[in-house]
Amino acid sequence: MKNIVIFGAPGAGKGTQSDFIVEHYGLTHVSTGDLLRKEIADQTELGKRIKSIMDAGQLVSDDIVIEMMDKAIANDTKGMLFDGFPRTVAQAEVLDKLLAKYGRELTCMVQLEVPKDELMRRLLERAKIQGRADDNEATINNRLQEYNSKTKPVADYYAAQGKQKLIDGLGTIEDIAARIRQAIG
Ligand code: ADP
Repeated sequence: MKNIVIFGAPGAGKGTQSDFIVEHYGLTHVSTGDLLRKEIADQTELGKRIKSIMDAGQLVSDDIVIEMMDKAIANDTKGMLFDGFPRTVAQAEVLDKLLAKYGRELTCMVQLEVPKDELMRRLLERAKIQGRADDNEATINNRLQEYNSKTKPVADYYAAQGKQKLIDGLGTIEDIAARIRQAIG
């Protein structure tokens, strides 16, 4: 059973490539961003608490996402693709513990590498199409800052475990999907 993390800056293409990976390997896709946006859309208590944080491009607290992930792993039988999680080293450490608790282990981390000017271009393009509340220039800058200060160290965490697979995230969607399949094996 495979359990994979897809990793990269906002706009790196995690969502797009996730679709190909879950299809190819028969995994359950779990996106913390999607789960959190659903809480906001459903106007739950949690949704009300996190809306302003997400709109500002900041990370919601580790406790909230960790609880969501624990539930998601408990409910899964196929193996999972984690998209948007872990986003801090603390979350990465917890993911290892959670997987162990359910008798699993992380297979690898797939990291999409895309230069900053291309990230910005893609996110502004997506803003026009999807109208996501956090896809505007000020919030995008905050998200990239949060990524650089809190999330990037997660890459070193997996490199130290020998689980990091670096993927060139430029090119056609199909080319990138093929690179990922080759890296995962
Ligand atoms: P992107 O990677 O394009 O920025 P996501 O949909 O993955 O978009 O995440 C959107 C927002 O959801 C983040 O800016 C953050 O506020 C929140 N979020 C998602 N995942 C996490 C996480 N693991 N920890 C904390 N906050 C998160």
